[in-house]
Parts: sequence; structure tokens; C-alpha cells
Amino acid sequence: MKFDTKLLHAGHNPKEHNMCINVPIYPTTAFDFDDVQRGADLFDLKCEGDIYTRLSNPTNNILETRLAELEGGVGALALSSGQAATTCAILNIAQAGDEVVAAPTLYGGTCNLFSFSLKKLGINFKFAKGEKVEDFEREITEKTRCIFIELLSNPALNVIDIEAVASLAHKYNIPLIVDNTIPSPYLCNPIKWGADIVVHSTTKYISGHGNAMGGAIIDSGNFDWEKSGKFPELTEPDESYHGIVYTKQFGKAAYIVKARAQILRDYGSCPSPFNSYMTLIGLETLSLRMQRHCESALKIAEYLENHPCINWVNYPGLKSNKYYDLAKKYTPKGCSSIIGFGLKGGAKAGEKFINSLTIPIHTTNIGDSRSIITYPYLTTHRQLSEEQLKACGVGDDFMRLSVGLEDVDDLIEDIENAIKLSQE
Ligand SMILES: *Cc1c(COP(=O)(O)O)cnc(C)c1O
Repeated sequence: MKFDTKLLHAGHNPKEHNMCINVPIYPTTAFDFDDVQRGADLFDLKCEGDIYTRLSNPTNNILETRLAELEGGVGALALSSGQAATTCAILNIAQAGDEVVAAPTLYGGTCNLFSFSLKKLGINFKFAKGEKVEDFEREITEKTRCIFIELLSNPALNVIDIEAVASLAHKYNIPLIVDNTIPSPYLCNPIKWGADIVVHSTTKYISGHGNAMGGAIIDSGNFDWEKSGKFPELTEPDESYHGIVYTKQFGKAAYIVKARAQILRDYGSCPSPFNSYMTLIGLETLSLRMQRHCESALKIAEYLENHPCINWVNYPGLKSNKYYDLAKKYTPKGCSSIIGFGLKGGAKAGEKFINSLTIPIHTTNIGDSRSIITYPYLTTHRQLSEEQLKACGVGDDFMRLSVGLEDVDDLIEDIENAIKLSQE
């Protein structure tokens, strides 16, 4: 099956679900073990089947299979949010005393998770000082257990050379994890470029309508945990699972089976089957939506770039952008729909601009079908000092637009009018 066919069919066989064409929602907590032998086999991970929805559920399973196929992985794990996906992806292979090398710019929630919450558990995150391979290499030590990067990183929209960073990771026998939320599997499949693990906030483009929180981890199955020798949790008996050795019993799927059987079992951040259903419905139109998102975003970015009241525009699809060439390589079909731009006139103009827009919604989400405008200086980042604001590149002129699926001419007219009012 090609990509667009997988969006609609992968993982769902109506014959296994009372001939339902749509994926059914299974609102059940537990599943009948039937006889004792089957119950025992389920708990030994000897046969396939559902036990309890914290571990797996038929609706969630279909989403997992679909996402694994769309990213080209051997398996996936659906979770309650993107944050849960990142947390589990790391906890599955790192523990107290271990280190993770991370990209210098990451989604704000990921920064907090790495700098504070996971650090409290004893995992040390070392942020590369730049985006070049050497910058990542400089932070790698004997204790490093993975490299974590983000593609079209939110909100800087930088494009890291995935292929080069994957080679670096493999040189040190560690896996590369890529947060692929903003491109979505339609614009990029990091596994093709050497990534070992992919994480998503499905909350954004994958579900696409701003109505279902969710996250996912996809395992490429390509990383050789045994050869690496750095991951005893995968290659030696798991005491919490009566001595299972994940690499022995599950081969290429060792990482993703462990993420479910151990990390999800214990941390419990499972998705609701209802949210997985909503995500699957949204996912059906991913290609169509992403095409429109990219087309409209490029048109708006070009319009803003030529506007006398706009200081700067950051969109990797613009020829003037420093990531243009890398974006052509990794996201050749388009650069998703987040645009950063600087409005002349400081905070006073910024406030007027936001208050004058009538179509984009003023909030802090991205990847919704509706356009969303965010003014970090006066909202999400308002607690930060001027110094901290400078460090994360949030000035009083910085606007972030997530371009939705509305008529692009309506959007441009609305923005034009708001810019005019902001300068009065
Ligand atoms: C939103 C986002 C997350 C976190 O996802 P939630 O579903 O909000 O928990 C992680 N990474 C990126 C790039 C995001 O945009």
C-alpha cells in the first residue's frame, strides 16, 4: 500500500471487528482471558491479545499499526500525549546516571521535561551548543544513551541534518530519537534517514482538528541493542517481567515491546480509545490537509516577507531562509504550517495586531485545522526575564502563526488589515 491508502486502511480489517467499516471504539477496561492457560500465556507475552486497556486496547492497536506503517517502523505505542511519548521514549532506555544529548532548540515542554523533571530522576541532559554534527559529538560521553532532536523545531523551525546526526549516533552505538510532530509522516519519515525511534504529538497535525490529545512512539526496529552492549535493560532478564529478555524474545521489536510491557504498564499514560478513534478519523485526511497547510503557509510567508511593516520572517520554505536547502532534502513536499515573523512597533503594535485579527484564533496550539496566532511575549513567555526571553529568541515583535485550512486570501486580507491597524 502507498502512503495515502495506508492513511485509510492500514491496521484495520473490518472482518475482525463485526464488519465495521469505521474503526470501532472499544470502551472497556478489561478483556476476558477465557481459560486459565490463555490468561497465563497473555501474562507471559506468549500470545497476542488484550489484558487491560492501560496496556493495550483494540482501538489503540489500530492507531499504533497505522502509525508504524506510515513511518516505516516495526511497531508503535500510542500514548495519552506528546509529552508522555517523549517521557516514555527516554525512560525506556535511560536511567539515573545516564546521559542524553539533545538538540539546542526543542519544543518548550520538552525543554522543561529534560531540564527539570527527568533531571530530577537522575538522567542528565546535555544540550548541544549548536546544530552541527561536531556540536552533538562534543557532548557525547561513555554515559550517553541516545541523541534527541526535533525536525522543524517549534518555534525556531530549524532543520537539523538527520542523516548526519544518525551516523554520529551509530558511530557511538547509541540510537537517534526524532520528534517528527511538525512535519508529520506526510512530509518526512525520519527512519528513512537513519533515525531509530520517532516520537509524535498526535495532538497536532496527525489528528489535525484540535480535538484529541495524544502521542506516539514508533520503533524502526533497526537499532542493534545487543551489538551496542549499552542497554542491559533490553538485553538482560527483566526482573519485573519474570526474567524476559526483550531482545531474545522480540528481536527487532524489543524496544517497543518493552516500552509497553514495562514503561507504560508502570507509568500508565495510556490513551483513551475515544481519543484514538478521533485521531484515526483525523489521520485519514492527513495528506490533503498537509498539502493545503504547506501551500497556504508558503503563500503567507512570501506575502509577509514583502511587507514593509514586517521586520523578519522565519519559514524554511522561503529561499532566503538559512534552512532552505536542508528543508528541500528532508521535507521536499513542503515545510508544514508554522511561520514566525517580527511585527514592527513593539509590544504596543503586537497587542493591537492580535486584537484586530478576526480569523486566526488567539491561543497557543498548533496544527489545528483553524489558523492560530500566538504572541509569546505577552502570553506563554510573559514570566520570563528580558534575558531569558533573549536566550529563547522571543522578542516583543515575535508572532507565531499556525496556518490553518481557511481560504488563504481571507487570511491574507485579515492579516493585512490587522497589520494596518497595529501601526496606527
Ligand atoms: C506539542 C508538542 C509536543 C507535546 O505534545 P502534547 O501532545 O501537547 O503533550 C511535543 N513536541 C512538539 C514538537 C510539539 O509541538
